[in-house]
Amino acid sequence: MWRYEPPLREMQFVIEDLLGAPAQWAQVPGFAGLDAATARSVLAEAGRFAAEVLAPTNADGDRHGCSWDEGRVATPPGFREAYRAYCDGGWPALACDPDWGGQGLPLLLHVALTEMLNSANHAWNMYAGLTHGAYETLRAHATADLQQRYLPKIVSGEWLATMCLTESHAGTDLGLLRTRADPVGGEPRSGSEVRVSGTKIFISGGEHDLTDNIVHLVLARLPDGPPGSKGLSLVLVPKVLTDGTHNRVHCDGIEKKMGLAGSATCVLRFDAATGWLVGEPHRGLPAMFVMMNAARLLVGMQGLGHLEMASQNARRYAHERMQSRAPQRPPGQAPRRADPIALHPAVRRALWTLQALAEGQRVIAYRTAQLLDEAEHHPDAAQRARAHELVALLTPVLKAFCTETGHLGADAALQVWGGHGYVREYGIEQSVRDSRVAMIYEGTNEIQAIDLLLRKVLDGGGQRLALLMDELEDEAARCDADPAVAEFGRALREHADALAAATVELETGREADPEWPYRVADDYLRATGLLLMGWAWARTARVAAPRAGDAWYAARLDAARFGLRWLLPEIDWRLQRVQAADAPLPWGPA
Ligand SMILES: Cc1cc2nc3c(=O)[nH]c(=O)nc-3n(C[C@H](O)[C@H](O)[C@H](O)COP(=O)(O)OP(=O)(O)OC[C@H]3O[C@@H](n4cnc5c(N)ncnc54)[C@H](O)[C@@H]3O)c2cc1C
Repeated sequence: MWRYEPPLREMQFVIEDLLGAPAQWAQVPGFAGLDAATARSVLAEAGRFAAEVLAPTNADGDRHGCSWDEGRVATPPGFREAYRAYCDGGWPALACDPDWGGQGLPLLLHVALTEMLNSANHAWNMYAGLTHGAYETLRAHATADLQQRYLPKIVSGEWLATMCLTESHAGTDLGLLRTRADPVGGEPRSGSEVRVSGTKIFISGGEHDLTDNIVHLVLARLPDGPPGSKGLSLVLVPKVLTDGTHNRVHCDGIEKKMGLAGSATCVLRFDAATGWLVGEPHRGLPAMFVMMNAARLLVGMQGLGHLEMASQNARRYAHERMQSRAPQRPPGQAPRRADPIALHPAVRRALWTLQALAEGQRVIAYRTAQLLDEAEHHPDAAQRARAHELVALLTPVLKAFCTETGHLGADAALQVWGGHGYVREYGIEQSVRDSRVAMIYEGTNEIQAIDLLLRKVLDGGGQRLALLMDELEDEAARCDADPAVAEFGRALREHADALAAATVELETGREADPEWPYRVADDYLRATGLLLMGWAWARTARVAAPRAGDAWYAARLDAARFGLRWLLPEIDWRLQRVQAADAPLPWGPA
């Protein structure tokens, strides 16, 4: 049966052995009191919450869904109680600044927590997950007065937050949006009062019964805002005003969706609602990008959450389900009429694919979080800048690669259950439905691919990619030194060289054919994601190989070797497609 076991040992392995995070914490004044044992107990407690409180609400949430009545939204049974327990446990405050009531712990631990929440109940985490991005945005851009009024309540979880971008005619292209922000009084500036009018659609958690107040962060245009995305401003619009009156924000309905039934996806109408500018007029998009980048990491973790859940449940089922005799058995096992399907090579291969990708993604996601901690806290400014650049490069890859792999992984896992996977009782079909949207929202995966290749790689003169290549080369060189894992170093270098060569071709060829990078951005992102998996598997193998006498480490090494030999070669055909400069893409089909 569908159940969640927090992968605490795997997390500990990544945080302590692969990333050496505790040694780093010791160098950072804010984290100096944090050691590996404390981090382990924080994650164990988070795992208990995810597995024992949250996971049991997942299937019911899907069955009941949310209901809308005259502008009010009721969340599924158990969601409110789980949210109360989440706040009582102090989880919203985990990685927030103590000045605002936070616990001041590294973002790395927050990201590990996020993975577990998404595995346990993705729909529920659509409410809780957005607050950290709202916190970061207000901390970076709001006036001191707005910060005083809103940050403590967001950090404690007393109030939840939303991001309000999409309108019916403005999805990917936010420059088209029409919601207005009309100034009250004089010349608008950061913190000044405005009246917001317009309708937003698809707003996650736009209305619900988990908290008394909801803090909406809304993109709107001031009357003198230039057309396009450069003319947008960011406005904080609370559901309830400081004097207790309801603001003029109305939930006109919720969507009926393919999945995430427990998450209210709302139509929000702002009817001259009171709000305050966050950041300077017309500088709303850069401010909103603080929230969007945090949300992209969160969404990447939704992919990992589903992949991990699908992987561990498929593994359990495959060891219980007996069908046909396997062509071979592990040494010492006597023949039987039927074997567990886990022994059949087709199923075994699917299980290793899920496991290798989940373990690889965790390394990359946690490494990104570690870099975010470095970008904020490292004492050396040059290291902070380097970390910042790497995060900019990794964010679109993490969002698109993890969500695609999460959804396709859930779909591949469903096959392990055969017909049972297709019926509700076993849980995996919900995961297939719930995971799909992560490839769409927070900037579709196509937009992430364009962001990676055009903005982060080609427009940056290849400098960010060079930083990544340095990290990969460093790992390859370490693998070279140990014959047991030398093949990882060779493969990593070979594929990194191939990606670098393809990048140079694109760089030189795009002048003559400006559409070329747009045609192949998707393959380029996939190749980059796989290369990062190669890096993760190389590091895993290098650390696990000397301890492979222990079955747990041997399994890590097996997964890494499987990834290297079975999954990494996909890079070759992806790059072949990237380099096929003259491959015609006809207009249409009409
Ligand atoms: C369940 C759910 C929750 C959501 N939550 C929120 C939320 O909380 N807040 C919020 O503001 N929005 C939210 N959204 C909206 C979501 O972010 C948008 O659906 C998404 O940005 C895509 O916009 P669109 O649906 O209008 O598609 P379109 O922009 O119309 O895109 C349609 C297709 O065309 C492609 N396309 C469009 N432009 C380009 C381009 N320039 N280059 C290449 N391909 C392109 C897209 O990749 C996509 O495949 C949510 C959506 C859903 C379904």
